Amino acid sequence: MRLVILGGPGAGKGTQGEWLCQHLGISWVSTGDILRAAIAAKDSDGDCQTELGRQARSYVERGELVPDDIMIQFIQRRLSGSDLKAGWVLDGYPRTAFQAEELDFLLEKLNQHLDYALFLEVPVETLLARSLARAREDDTPEAIQRRLEAFQARTVPLLEYYEMKQRLLYINAELPIEQVRQEILEKLTARA
Ligand code: AMP
Repeated sequence: MRLVILGGPGAGKGTQGEWLCQHLGISWVSTGDILRAAIAAKDSDGDCQTELGRQARSYVERGELVPDDIMIQFIQRRLSGSDLKAGWVLDGYPRTAFQAEELDFLLEKLNQHLDYALFLEVPVETLLARSLARAREDDTPEAIQRRLEAFQARTVPLLEYYEMKQRLLYINAELPIEQVRQEILEKLTARA
C-alpha cells in the first residue's frame, strides 16, 4: 500500500503514520526527519556533510518550504530505492500542488500508484498548542507560525487535488490516538 499522510504541524502525522507502517509492514518516509538528519550531520568544519543538508538548511531553520526542485529530485531518488518495494507512507511530502503532480508522474514512471491521501483534520488552535508543547529544536514560535501559514497557503490546495482524484480520506484527528487509528483502519478497509 502507498499512502500520503497530510495535516498541519502537530496533527499527529508522525504518531499515526509510523504506527500504520508497522501495522501494514511498509516503510515510513518523513521528509522533515530526513532533512533534519541531513542538516544535523556535520563534518569536522561544522558544515553539513551532504549536499541535501547544505541545500535545505537555511529553509528548514526559517520554517520555510525547501524549493520544489530540490525536494522533487530528492523524493525521486528515495522512492526508487529497492527497500520501498512493499509500500510506504509519505509524511511531509507532497507539500505543494506541484510536488503532488510530480509525484504522480514519478509513480507512473515507476509503474506504481498512490492508494490514498489521508488528511488528519485538526483545528488550528490545537495544531498550535501541540507544536508548542513538542519543543523540538526547530519548534520556535516564529518557525511554528510560519509552518502553519505555509500549511494553510500551500498544503490545503492539495486536498482539492486528491479530492478530485478521489483519493482523499478525511480523518478526525482531534480524537485520542487509539480512536484515530481505528478510524484510519476503518476507512482504509471500507475503500479497499
Ligand atoms: P516537517 O517535520 O514535515 O514539518 O518538516 C520540517 C521542515 O522541513 C519544513 O518546515 C520545511 O522546511 C522542510 N520540508 C519538509 N518536507 C518538505 C517538502 N515536501 N517541501 C518543502 N519543504 C519541506
